[in-house]
Amino acid sequence: MYNPSSRKATEFIDHQEILDTLAYADENCENVELIDSIIAKAKERKGLSHREASVLLACPIPEKNEEIYKLAEQIKKDFYGNRIVMFAPLYLSNYCINGCTYCPYHMKNKHIPRKKLTQDEIRREVIALQDMGHKRLALEAGEDPQNNPIEYILESIKTIYSIQHKNGAIRRVNVNIAATTVENYRKLKEAGIGTYILFQETYHKESYLELHPTGPKHDYDYHTEAMDRAMEGGIDDVGLGVLFGLDKYRYEFAGLLMHAEHLEAVFGVGPHTISVPRLKNADDIDASSFKNGIDDDTFAKIVACIRVAVPYTGMIISTRENQACRERVLHLGISQISGGSRTSVGGYAEPEPEDESSEQFDVSDTRTLDEVVKWLMDLGYIPSFCTACYREGRTGDRFMALCKSQQIQNCCHPNALLTLKEYLMDYASPETKKIGDALIEREIENVPNPKARETLVKHLKEIENNEGRDFRF
Ligand code: SAM
Repeated sequence: MYNPSSRKATEFIDHQEILDTLAYADENCENVELIDSIIAKAKERKGLSHREASVLLACPIPEKNEEIYKLAEQIKKDFYGNRIVMFAPLYLSNYCINGCTYCPYHMKNKHIPRKKLTQDEIRREVIALQDMGHKRLALEAGEDPQNNPIEYILESIKTIYSIQHKNGAIRRVNVNIAATTVENYRKLKEAGIGTYILFQETYHKESYLELHPTGPKHDYDYHTEAMDRAMEGGIDDVGLGVLFGLDKYRYEFAGLLMHAEHLEAVFGVGPHTISVPRLKNADDIDASSFKNGIDDDTFAKIVACIRVAVPYTGMIISTRENQACRERVLHLGISQISGGSRTSVGGYAEPEPEDESSEQFDVSDTRTLDEVVKWLMDLGYIPSFCTACYREGRTGDRFMALCKSQQIQNCCHPNALLTLKEYLMDYASPETKKIGDALIEREIENVPNPKARETLVKHLKEIENNEGRDFRF
């Protein structure tokens, strides 16, 4: 029986409820009256239920879809302004004992070089990332209790936070590691992680079991209930995601929103972020052999529908997607993107020779961080390296309260400008710096509170004169 408040995976992600939702969406996908009422509800910016959002996703009417896209863009502007948060993944180890059929790190792959960074190698990677200008990382590792035990992850986090190279610092470490115990989540929280990210891969239990035939990840319930354990362990910023291409996208979409509703029902706070990865070619993985791939139009529609359904949730896109696709979905609701990424173990300090690649998947956007930053500014966005909320204790419902208090423009906006200024001073090419300085000059005017504006101008000067870094509201 479907029950969003249940702690059992198969009750809060109830298969029958998803089937009923899809049938309801099919029946109503051209019901203009209903669609108008759902769009009107979404305009109130309080979100939509999985059923309502599924109707919008299924709707084939071009004019209605235009309305949905416009609304997604407006909601994005209202909640996130024109800021885009930057991050990079850092692969610690590709040792893995799972058998995921879509991932080249699966245990049976004897061809891919297996690598695990030592603390010294991590230091080198982090210095390379700091020298690019990154302040926020997402740690990635395969699941292998012997090679990558929690102690290794914790030690690595400590190493990362301890490195201060020139003006560089990693100020927020998000973690994307396999589902684990409440006790381990507590340890991650104590180590000072930002968001705990775990992709569900697919919400369809039967497919899940086939796609994860061996290893601890085979346990669908344990994997699906991971965010509950993370929250119990004190991590109140969690990041959801599905790997689009594994099962039918409409099923995944409904499951994803039901997962968000479950977290809201049980813990009073929804997911901090939702990621939208699509399956890619990789070492021994041929993405075209999976039958549920989605095209760029469908992908854009999914992003827009997530945006209107969960307006407070950040949305992340990685370099799995190419420049054109990233540009399109930035307008529709994406709030965080990676730049200059390497998906290999140890790829930042020293690029790997092609025949020895430990990459997890092919990267489509291979531009440098400087190129991505310049591109974003040319498009009218403010690339933000801000990590203030989490460091000021504004996580979970406190972050949501900030969103709802309409103070974002007096808080996130100046923080974005301050961290962009740091980037321009310390890492940008002359051309990027010129464009960025002009952008900051214009954007100062968009801080409504005069006191906040004054403080911002003072700190910008201090950064310019090298009198300080790391100011935050
Ligand atoms: N081992 C951890 C786990 O089980 O969640 C860490 C995650 S892994 C390093 C990061 C994510 O990459 C996976 O959750 C999966 O969704 C994604 N991934 C795996 N193979 C992929 C592929 N061929 N194309 C795109 N993304 C892939």
